[in-house]
Amino acid sequence: MGKLHIVGFGPGDLKNMTFWAKDAIDKSDVIIGYETYIELLAPYIQGKEVYETGMTEEIDRAIFAIKKAKDGKVVSLVSSGDAGIYGMAALVFEVLLESGWKVGDDPEVEVIPGVTAANACAALVGSPLSLDFAVISMSDLLVPWEIIEKRIRTAAMGDFVIVIYNPKSKKRNWQLTRARDIIMEFRDPLTPVAIVKSAFREGQSVKFTTLKDLGDDSILGMLATVIIGNSTTFIKNGIMLTPRGYSTKYEVKLK
Ligand code: SAH
Repeated sequence: MGKLHIVGFGPGDLKNMTFWAKDAIDKSDVIIGYETYIELLAPYIQGKEVYETGMTEEIDRAIFAIKKAKDGKVVSLVSSGDAGIYGMAALVFEVLLESGWKVGDDPEVEVIPGVTAANACAALVGSPLSLDFAVISMSDLLVPWEIIEKRIRTAAMGDFVIVIYNPKSKKRNWQLTRARDIIMEFRDPLTPVAIVKSAFREGQSVKFTTLKDLGDDSILGMLATVIIGNSTTFIKNGIMLTPRGYSTKYEVKLK
């Protein structure tokens, strides 16, 4: 029986890859992924059967990976971050379930979790996600904008820290400022914001700004994640922090 690993390999570097992800990749005969991911993994997949595809070929990539595993191969379909978070796992299961596949059938499928962009980026700025947070993608390719807008509004209303994936691209140029305006209906314009580009990859950069100024930073793009604080989040001495609330109950001084 073939085996299909759906591997989240983290934000990009080896130290953020789980042992399980590395092990699955090591054990695979075939590696399939979007070209940028294959480039990132190049040092670890030498000598394997490797297939790179373009960004818009996700359905073909999923079908191809399933076919290879059905041929009896050990396959890793690789996604950055976590493959179950805006990644390839859902698509693979959609294709499989559509064909009548069920757990126990050929191929065996395993989803291997990875460090997603949200907590990778958060780690680079301090601890902004210490309490309830919501992740919202600005991509309206598959989700209608009205639904995205509803989610932005309700997350803002609920005082969630908001993490924004896919904030901006050449074509996606107004969604982030629209999101900012909605959030400002509920939140202080001076709410701290972090923009992290290419976390744990070449070209990594971090910028702090405020909600009212969010929108035009040059590091915004498809490789950036935006973290918008809640009503208690602050930036101090280079650290973005959403305090857990201990200091309201206990003394948190260094002794
Ligand atoms: N499956 C991925 C998310 C894919 S959606 C994960 O779990 O991380 C793609 C979006 O993720 C990008 O537009 C960007 O907002 C964010 N992203 C992915 N990798 C990133 C990185 N290394 N640094 C900053 N943001 C990243």
